[in-house]
Amino acid sequence: MEAVRDVLNRPLRDLRISLTDRCNFRCRYCMPREIFGPGYAFLPAEEILTAEEILRTVGILQDLGVRKVRLTGGEPLLRRDILTIVEGLSKLGLDEIALTTNGALLPRLATALKEKGLTRVTVSLDALDDETFRKINGVGYPVKKVLEAIEAADGAGLRPVKINAVIQRGVNEHAILDLAGYFRHTPHIVRFIEYMDVGTTNGWKPEDVVSAREIFEIIHQRWPLEPLPPRRPGEVARRFRYRDGAGEIGLIASVTQPFCRGCNRLRLSADGQLFLCLFASKGFPLKSLLRKGASDDEIREALRRLWQARDDRYSELRSLMPKMTRPEMHYLGG
Ligand code: SF4
Repeated sequence: MEAVRDVLNRPLRDLRISLTDRCNFRCRYCMPREIFGPGYAFLPAEEILTAEEILRTVGILQDLGVRKVRLTGGEPLLRRDILTIVEGLSKLGLDEIALTTNGALLPRLATALKEKGLTRVTVSLDALDDETFRKINGVGYPVKKVLEAIEAADGAGLRPVKINAVIQRGVNEHAILDLAGYFRHTPHIVRFIEYMDVGTTNGWKPEDVVSAREIFEIIHQRWPLEPLPPRRPGEVARRFRYRDGAGEIGLIASVTQPFCRGCNRLRLSADGQLFLCLFASKGFPLKSLLRKGASDDEIREALRRLWQARDDRYSELRSLMPKMTRPEMHYLGG
């Protein structure tokens, strides 16, 4: 079945689903605790898509080309019906069901997630020293527990585990060699991510970005690297292997080396809005279609037209784009 293509001839392939806007961490580049404090009004339960609505939506989008689903949030493992959602997705014949998590609930769920059909997991870990990591995650969560979560995922057969590290200048550059060194000679892959201006609450400034080129040089000087080809079209990380065979890393350079030309990602927020870009200011109100009795055919045609009209490439045009209010990372799911 031919995937629907947008204005830039990009096929719809990947769907990222934010299962909740809530999280048990307060990472400063995503949910700074001074803004997302005790009184913050998260989405009310009745506004959140049900497991049935999510599975119906994925089924319809499969007819338009979706082959891979990534479950995100907030923290997706906070969803009590996470196993039901994963099991339902595993019956749809997708190529991949992936999940991004902070790891706090992973040791308890890893085996069951694997049994229900989860393909693989990405765990966020922005530093290897407690002092820095506790400051970044905003809740004093220890590194040791995240490392245990990575081992639990590996033990459950969710391997290789990918580790996401967002690098901010003046915050955790020192973690680059720490993390690279720790995961050398393991099957796990650290992906170093350029700090992005997602949403409008993380106080992003261009000078706070440590470029992928800088990160590459820091590691390459210590452990020489060589490029690897992408595993599939639209892959966001640039892959490199250690020349000495000690494993692989990834660099995600959304700011300095935009990859919009290959972007085949659609995003579904927890309250049923479809976003054509991580930096889009407005979403398509899918939930109202789902809940007011539209047929699958009607929804499919509406989503086909939505994608066909897509011309988003924010990262390429970042410096030219007017300042505007945009949804937050914890709502959109990264
Ligand atoms: S900025 Fe938007 S279009 Fe570009 S890669 Fe990111 S999500 Fe895709």
